[in-house]
Amino acid sequence: MAARRHGPGRSAEFGGRAGSLGSVTDLWPRLEELLPRVAKPARYIGGEDGMQSPVHDARAVSWLLTYPDTYEIGLPNQGLQILYEILNERPDALAERSYAPWVDLEALLRTERLPLFSLESHRPASDFDVIAFNLSAELTYTNVLNCVDLAGVPVRSADRADGDPLVAAGGHCTYNPEPLADYLDFVVLGDGEEAVGEVTEVLARWKAAGKPVGGRLGALRELAGVAGVYVPALYDVAYDGPRIVAVEPRFPEAPARVEKRTVADLAHWPYPKNQLVPLTEVVHDRLNVEVFRGCTRGCRFCQAGMITRPVRERPADQVRTMVSDGLRRTGYDEVALTSLSTADFSGIEQVVADTVTDAGCGQVAVALPSLRVDAFTVGLAAQIQRARRTGLTFAPEAGTWRMRQVINKLISSEDLYGAVEAAFSQGWSRVKLYFLTGLPTETDQDTLGIAELARNCVELGSTHRRSASVTASVGGFVPKPFTPFQWFGQNTTVELRRKIGLLRGELRRTRGVRLKWHDPEATLAEGLASRGDRRLGPVIEYVWRRGGTFQEWSEHFDSGLWLEAMAACGLDPDWYTCRHRRVDEILPWDHLSAGLHKDFLWQDWRDALDEVGLEDCRWTPCYDCGACTGYGIEHVVASAVPPAGGSQGTGVSRSSGGPVPVALAAPRRPVGAGVS
Ligand code: SF4
Repeated sequence: MAARRHGPGRSAEFGGRAGSLGSVTDLWPRLEELLPRVAKPARYIGGEDGMQSPVHDARAVSWLLTYPDTYEIGLPNQGLQILYEILNERPDALAERSYAPWVDLEALLRTERLPLFSLESHRPASDFDVIAFNLSAELTYTNVLNCVDLAGVPVRSADRADGDPLVAAGGHCTYNPEPLADYLDFVVLGDGEEAVGEVTEVLARWKAAGKPVGGRLGALRELAGVAGVYVPALYDVAYDGPRIVAVEPRFPEAPARVEKRTVADLAHWPYPKNQLVPLTEVVHDRLNVEVFRGCTRGCRFCQAGMITRPVRERPADQVRTMVSDGLRRTGYDEVALTSLSTADFSGIEQVVADTVTDAGCGQVAVALPSLRVDAFTVGLAAQIQRARRTGLTFAPEAGTWRMRQVINKLISSEDLYGAVEAAFSQGWSRVKLYFLTGLPTETDQDTLGIAELARNCVELGSTHRRSASVTASVGGFVPKPFTPFQWFGQNTTVELRRKIGLLRGELRRTRGVRLKWHDPEATLAEGLASRGDRRLGPVIEYVWRRGGTFQEWSEHFDSGLWLEAMAACGLDPDWYTCRHRRVDEILPWDHLSAGLHKDFLWQDWRDALDEVGLEDCRWTPCYDCGACTGYGIEHVVASAVPPAGGSQGTGVSRSSGGPVPVALAAPRRPVGAGVS
């Protein structure tokens, strides 16, 4: 168990920010003295190319965009960078950034009674009107509480005064923000590009009125009227024993169901225009250009794919311009074309070819971080490797075709072998394969299928390169809200450990295959936070108060602390994680909406159990999941040409020829039974 650095009552150790700092707005002189004593001081300096220096003005709404993990993980986050630019372009707003200080600096800040600060002007976080977190991973929740506390702001929203910043969140985890309901003032569901401006307008009016006494609740009530904004404190949750029986809004401004925001056309939002170039090494240290949002492949385990529907492709010309301008400005020699499945982008080979040969930028390496094996061709491999071979990761997710039908990852083993062969034949010597274990209906045969696939890939590679190798990375499956698997009881840690043991035994003497796996205890903690309700809040607070920060990091993750916290709060971990939910159960996130009809998700769950797959609705008639039909929008594709082997149906696409109506409610079509 990790050392516990703080006892109960953690916030009592800090909290004198007003008294100790007075009107100090620039903490840099005091911070500078501390930096020689911490690891990686460049995390805290700011000054990156692309950094903005907004002028603070009493009328402008000031946002501190905060990533609740280290600078290296948080800086590349595209959502945060997009909002950073959009807010700083507005005359009524400004935005600076902050990242969770690593444990060494945190200890010094607490000793020196210094608060969380922004990177741009090194201002105290509490000087901002809004501290807004990007929530991309559940195990960062304790860091959220830590950052709020380090800001000198009460961690519970009910304890905050009118003068305290509002604490907000966006990002994929906010589709079930209930475990943080007592700590967040408001949440934005879905795309933030438009919503952030509307929130700013409400807060600018509130500021102009002098943040009237008692007005915090009034401001929150008005915010609840902004589409996509959820204010947890405006809702009452009723329980009958462990089960939720009702979630009711307490004020008329709070909608009974909060619908997500969806930006209809990415062409209107070519951000970030000035990607930040860090002074120190970060993950994904390259130019990143988002080529599309949303995914309709329909993988049933994938929350990102479900909640970001429909597909909205950026026009190919805009992609080329963003790549070209970005490379010239930043000096990077590598660009990642990002999305949930980049090889699906219409005309991807041409875009990659144009990027590699961009005369003004020299040799440019192209990374395609999310590759579907059935869309990865020799031609694409040949284009990518012309400048430099970037890492290749494929995600078959499951070891057998039966299992892949259950999860609707409809790629055959031959698809995988074809992609791997394309890579090895074009000079790659190593590929990474990503798998999940603990999936619904998984048998030992399915688990062992992972080993067989990996072994076969190495054999294929050996025909091209003697040194061919495969890294098989296996994660424990955590069911997520707004997916067809939201009703599934996840595997126990004992069962996950047994399955990993099976694989280790099977691959023990296999040359060329390296097996990596995720800690099953961390899978349990992630499961608690993913599908927990408001009663999980005190658990998260308990873990945080006992030093449980940076739970994403294996050296800091403390499974015993999570179990101790559950016991202290009188909650059963198995009830929250391993229990199958019934169709009539009220789920903690049922008053929120990702646009998906619940009956669509339920039917898809039943289809999963029947091993029935569904084709990509981009090229087939619509299944009426709700993501387009519910919002009056539709897929936007840069070209109406379906992928090789795909079938273009009655038009859920929009080509340059203009919108094509969505054909509604086609019969659900079983796919490809018997392919192996
Ligand atoms: S509404 Fe229809 S076309 Fe749109 S994402 Fe859902 S199933 Fe696909």
